Amino acid sequence: MLNRGELFIVSAPSGSGKTSVSNSTLTQMEGLCFSVSYTTRAPRAGETEGVDYHFVSKDNFKKMTKNGELLEWASVYGHYYGTGQNFVEHKLNLGWDVLLDIDIQGARSIRKTLPQSHLIFVLPPSLQALKVRLESRSLDDRKTILARLKNAHTEMLAFTEYDYLILNEDIEEAVSELKSIISAARCKRHRRTELAQNVLASFQKNT
Ligand code: 5GP
Repeated sequence: MLNRGELFIVSAPSGSGKTSVSNSTLTQMEGLCFSVSYTTRAPRAGETEGVDYHFVSKDNFKKMTKNGELLEWASVYGHYYGTGQNFVEHKLNLGWDVLLDIDIQGARSIRKTLPQSHLIFVLPPSLQALKVRLESRSLDDRKTILARLKNAHTEMLAFTEYDYLILNEDIEEAVSELKSIISAARCKRHRRTELAQNVLASFQKNT
């Protein structure tokens, strides 16, 4: 029987570099896939439909919530974001580990519905570093940057609810830590029982 995969939730104050850490980890680890969220916000320059997000209208998003198509959803900076239930379930059942890049509200909600999930929080080195990152990526207007910075302090306080903390000062190191967390979870007994039973069977044949 195939082992069911697990959920790895990555959250961080925006500008902490969690998307880069997640993307790099996804390209380096087999058996790990990304859950592309649904959002009502407009695509940013360089974002691709179906890769970064599924961009949907507010009406469609509301229909999805009503029909129970979302595993969790939240309103972030005035836009709706949600995780597709079917995709995640399908991948987990096929034995894939699934990485979710979602906010704190989403992480809390997943913790309730799927308590075995691994909650990982990416820390920026400092508020100053966060400010520099948000300004240099030129993705948001001044007002949004200020809102994100203000929110970052509140978001930081939520680190106590997470299982793992990664400091993103050096991206390579942060990626290496995320990979280690996933690798360690894959070595847990419940994921390795079949393997152990196969080894045990070889003993029983010969003794
Ligand atoms: P952004 O607009 O910068 O891509 O994302 C804004 C915030 O929404 C980030 O903290 C991101 O992790 C979060 N987010 C993205 N997708 C989801 C989702 O499906 N559910 C929830 N709850 N948050 C999400």
